[in-house]
Amino acid sequence: MHEDNEVCVVRYGHRPGRDDRMTTHVGLTARALGADRVILPDNAGNAADTVRDITDRFGGPFTVESRTVGPSIARNWEGTVAHLTMYGLPVQEVEQEVREAHAEEPLLVVVGGEKVPFEFYDEAAFNVAVTNQPHSEVAGLAVFLDRLFEGRELDREWTDADRTVVPEATGKRVVDADGDPAHGTGSGEE
Ligand code: SAM
Repeated sequence: MHEDNEVCVVRYGHRPGRDDRMTTHVGLTARALGADRVILPDNAGNAADTVRDITDRFGGPFTVESRTVGPSIARNWEGTVAHLTMYGLPVQEVEQEVREAHAEEPLLVVVGGEKVPFEFYDEAAFNVAVTNQPHSEVAGLAVFLDRLFEGRELDREWTDADRTVVPEATGKRVVDADGDPAHGTGSGEE
């Protein structure tokens, strides 16, 4: 969120076909909730293109990378690694420490899939649980980022947006860069 040190989210463990929507949503959630960059596995089909397309339409800055993802990404990260897992320490107990670490250096947030190699647990400075109940990488990421930024991400400004949603109690109002009504959001959520 343009703080001194970046927050980068990496998605490990994509199963082609079955996880396509989930991996796309990891990218969209990382973008919407304040991360600066997402790394998606290169076997994740169109996920990276979809997130780039949303960034082009609804603004950034946000960077999307597509590459082979394995434990070496955590091992070689120059900064702090936080790995989201139901087996970790409760987010409410470690969030302050994570924030302090992020104030000093870049933060890599790892979200997994079905099976995450133990090396990620080992490499992480923080194994963080959003409850110790099993749920989803998207839900875990959303709560984690909101805790990390203490809600500031909800008020962030977006730059270079083609279109902007104008909040309304009822209805769907979208305007283009000139403030004229835009036709179709292109978000797939019309
Ligand atoms: N056994 C897995 C685990 O270690 O959390 C659950 C696999 S879940 C299908 C896929 C991913 O969702 C996990 O790798 C983790 O990143 C995230 N996740 C699921 N439940 C979570 C929780 N309670 N807290 C934090 N992350 C969670």
